[in-house]
Amino acid sequence: NSVGVDAGGTLIKIAYRNDQQELSFEKFPVSEIAMAAAWIQEHFAGAEICVTGGKAKQLHDLLNRPIRTLVEFDATCNGVQYLMDMQKLSDEPFVLTNVGTGTSIHFVDKQKHHRLGGIGVGGGTLMGLSFLLTGIQNYAEIVEVSRQGNRKFIDLKVSDIYEGMVPPIPGDLTASNFGNVLQHQTTRQNSDILASVIGLVGETITTISVQAATQNGASSIVYIGSSFIGNDVLRDTVVNYTVLRGAVPTVLRNGEYSGAIGALMS
Ligand code: ADP
Repeated sequence: NSVGVDAGGTLIKIAYRNDQQELSFEKFPVSEIAMAAAWIQEHFAGAEICVTGGKAKQLHDLLNRPIRTLVEFDATCNGVQYLMDMQKLSDEPFVLTNVGTGTSIHFVDKQKHHRLGGIGVGGGTLMGLSFLLTGIQNYAEIVEVSRQGNRKFIDLKVSDIYEGMVPPIPGDLTASNFGNVLQHQTTRQNSDILASVIGLVGETITTISVQAATQNGASSIVYIGSSFIGNDVLRDTVVNYTVLRGAVPTVLRNGEYSGAIGALMS
């Protein structure tokens, strides 16, 4: 009997096996880390607790009992391999992009993996910029409002620049995120702004992922992280933009629990 925990910058993800031995999940915001600790104490009194992520020490202090800690990237990649096996996805080499509070990029090949790099643009950027520009800070509301948004008067597409000409690269690529703002000085809807914020985050992580894949001879990109939870706007942006850039995207089901699953399986 054991439990795997990924205590990240924004969310605490927990993986365990229920009474029927099925893989089950739970999550708590980091602001409620004491509640997460209490939940673990209540449900896993005698169990081994394996923890990964930057808030492992904070959680340990609250749990007041021994825990096993794991390197986050190992746990995440192992969890991803497990989910991909379960979901019968191809085991060809791929680039793994973990869109958490920030974004981390890895190269994964059957038995080995290494970190290629990362960027500070991620789910935290989505939250922060959305709040700064619209005053909305509830995650579900940001996604909901963005759904009605139109990026046309905020972002500049390649086809906007090559007006009436055939552009040398696909016209649907974004030439400049937020680059159309000064040309269209009208009042803007929050929905449009939020759609463009999600566009900026999605296209940035897609672009570096596709470049990482190209440089490492992979054509497939697997996206994970809580930034995709209930956020079909980000998911669609990333999937469509990855295809537009010539790579093959997968947004892994339950991928946000990869770190917790890797910790559980360790
Ligand atoms: P970390 O491991 O750094 O905590 P996650 O993979 O958990 O990262 O992703 C955190 C991101 O997930 C947030 O920045 C936000 O964009 C998104 N998110 C999804 N659900 C929520 C939620 N209920 N509350 C806040 N952010 C959420």
